[in-house]
Amino acid sequence: MQKVGKLSVSTINATSIKTMLRDLHSHTIASDGSLTPLELLKLAQERGVDELAITDHDSVESLDEALSLAEQFNLSIVPGVEISAAWGKKKEETVHIVGLQIDHKHNGLQQFLRAIQDKRRERALTMGKKLEAAGVKGAQPDVEYMVDSQPMVCRTHLAQYLLDLGVIKNFGDAFKKYLAKGGRAYVPDEWFDLEDATAMIRQAGGIPVLAHPTRYGMGSNKLKRLIEEFKAVGGLGIETCYPNIHPGQKNLLADWSKQFELYASQGSDFHSPDKPWALLGKFAPLPEHVVPVWTSSAWTKTQD
Ligand code: AMP
Ligand code: MN
Ligand code: MN
Ligand code: MN
Repeated sequence: MQKVGKLSVSTINATSIKTMLRDLHSHTIASDGSLTPLELLKLAQERGVDELAITDHDSVESLDEALSLAEQFNLSIVPGVEISAAWGKKKEETVHIVGLQIDHKHNGLQQFLRAIQDKRRERALTMGKKLEAAGVKGAQPDVEYMVDSQPMVCRTHLAQYLLDLGVIKNFGDAFKKYLAKGGRAYVPDEWFDLEDATAMIRQAGGIPVLAHPTRYGMGSNKLKRLIEEFKAVGGLGIETCYPNIHPGQKNLLADWSKQFELYASQGSDFHSPDKPWALLGKFAPLPEHVVPVWTSSAWTKTQD
C-alpha cells in the first residue's frame, strides 16, 4: 500500500470522506443551558462535532461570541434560535420553532425576541408569587432576584431552584407539581402564534424547523395536523432525529418530512453535561430517504 508520511492512502481517504457531525439544536446560559458559549464550543470540539447550531430559547445573545470563537475551535457555527409559539384552536399548545441560519442582527427579529423576553420576565415574577402562595417561603424575592440578575428565567431555572431548596425530589416533579399545566405555580403562556414565529424566522433569512415534534404529548392525528399547518404557514423543516425518540416515531417523522416536503433536521437539544439523556452530538443519523436541512440553499449561501 502506498505510504504518505505515516498514513496510508486508504486511511486518508477514509478520513476525508468521514461524514460531518452536525448538531443543530443546543442551549447556552443565554437561556436555560448551563455552559457559556466558550465552554459549549470546547465541549463540541471534544465530542467531535463539526457543525453546531446554537438555538437558545427566544434569545440570540450568545451568537456573536460563539461566531467569533468558531475558527479557533475549527467549528462551523450555525446562528439559530428556538422560539416558543402558541398553536391550536384556542392557542392552547406551546410548540417550539427552531430557526436555523438566521440573520441574528435582523432588527425585526431582535424586537420580536425582546417582546417575548418581556413576557418571560412577567411570567417568572407571577410564578414566583404563586410559588410563595403555594408555601415555598422566599420564592417571590428569590425569583425577583433571578429576573434581575440573569439573562433569562425559564421554567428550567425554577425547577432547579425548587430542587436546590429540597421542595421536590427531581426535575420531573417540579414540573408536575408546580410548573406545568395543572401545577400550583403554572401561569398560562402568552406566546406569539405559530404563524408569526415562522414568518419572523423567514424574514430574518432563516429556516423554520419544528423542534422535537414527539415531545408535545400530542396524538399522531393532532401532530400530523400541526405539521400540516406548520407547512402551510411557511415552515420548512422538522426535527427527525434527537435523543430518546423511538425508532417507530423517527420513521413516522421521516415519512411526514417526505410527504409534506419538509427538510429533516437533527440535534441533541443539549442543555447541560449533567443531563446524560441529551449529550452533545449524540443522536441517531437521519434516515437515507429524507432531505437534510443542510442541503437547502439558505445553508450553502452562508458557506460562500
Ligand atoms: P419555558 O420555555 O420557560 O416554558 O421552559 C421550558 C423548558 O423547560 C423546556 O425547554 C425544557 O428544557 C424544560 N422542561 C419542560 N418540561 C419539562 C419536564 N417535564 N421535565 C424537565 N424539563 C422540562
Ligand atoms: Mn430548555
Ligand atoms: Mn424545545
Ligand atoms: Mn431546545
